[in-house]
Amino acid sequence: MAERNEKIIMELLKCPGNGVCADCDYENPEWASYNIGIFICTRCSGIHRSMGVHISKVKHLKLDRWEDSQVQRMKEVGNMKAKLKYEERVPPCYRRPKYNDPQVLIEQWIRAKYQREEFSHPEKQTYTKGFMQGFLMKRGKEDSRYQPRKFILSEADDTLKYFIREDREPKATLRISELNVVFAPEKIGINTSLQFTFLKDGTTRHIYVYHEEPEIINNWYMAIRCAKLHRLQVAYPSVPEYDLVNHLTQDFAKEGWLWKTGPRLSDGFKKRWFTLDNRKLMYHDDALDAYPKGELFIGYALDGYSIRIGVSAGVKDMGFSFSLTTPDRIYHLSAQTEADRDQWIEVIDNVIKRQTTPQESATSARLVRKRANTNSISLFSPR
Ligand SMILES: [Zn+2]
Repeated sequence: MAERNEKIIMELLKCPGNGVCADCDYENPEWASYNIGIFICTRCSGIHRSMGVHISKVKHLKLDRWEDSQVQRMKEVGNMKAKLKYEERVPPCYRRPKYNDPQVLIEQWIRAKYQREEFSHPEKQTYTKGFMQGFLMKRGKEDSRYQPRKFILSEADDTLKYFIREDREPKATLRISELNVVFAPEKIGINTSLQFTFLKDGTTRHIYVYHEEPEIINNWYMAIRCAKLHRLQVAYPSVPEYDLVNHLTQDFAKEGWLWKTGPRLSDGFKKRWFTLDNRKLMYHDDALDAYPKGELFIGYALDGYSIRIGVSAGVKDMGFSFSLTTPDRIYHLSAQTEADRDQWIEVIDNVIKRQTTPQESATSARLVRKRANTNSISLFSPR
């Protein structure tokens, strides 16, 4: 009997939709939630279990015994039908996480689907309203302590403001349309954190925040994405929504320590924290600095950008060196391992191969203007 049921389960796995995890698309799921009727991966099964058996009852496909009624339920539902029910009204701005995404995003996605049933009850989606306020712990600009700060998001004003004292003027006003948000970058060391990145007076500024409640930080993230989408829809009414959705927030393609040298042959190599944010390559003294020490726009190949292994004649080779050529200068950098160097070259080369969008060119112009006007920030100057 049990053996027959196991065979049926294995057959069901071959049905369309069941071959990947119902929640994160990871291939060859080994678990199931037999009351919901879905096939899921090991990681998602842990999240399902943590919600409690009143929400989800988890079983291993091979190692556990299957009752007839449980097999019947799996047959009746399956991943495709479950999606129709539990993902019926996922707002387009919502980031549907995949298996390699941060744990909190996956966990909140699963809880939103089955525990809070947010996607069958849109009135529960507080993040689509265009307004959100509350306290977030914000890292100090000069010191590393986190302090509670009131944040207010207003889609109508295109602003995200934060206040040190509620009865005073905001400490900073960020334009939502010019803001990038990265969910819990590893360097912060807090899995319920966000990094805000935006341009201020021609220089990038980073703000690091967190909230202890995973659901709240997830809601802030989605709220900013939703506000951005709505504003883009107004600005570009003819661009299809699925296209706009790709421009809401962008994870950093890569971050890490590199050695860099200045423009003169006599300049020594210094260790810096590098971040590739879309077409912007920034470097910092420390990973959690509020401002980059320097930043460089990486343009399109035909406009004079290229990257290669090695350094120019006369420059010291640090072992895993590579050179980035721009119309202005050649930048000599070095990674700490061969694999790391190859990854950097790959991610930067991917940017160089892509044509520049008008929005990206505008960003570039703002960075360069700063250099031309004030001379106080020279891109990649040996500071
Ligand atoms: Zn999964």
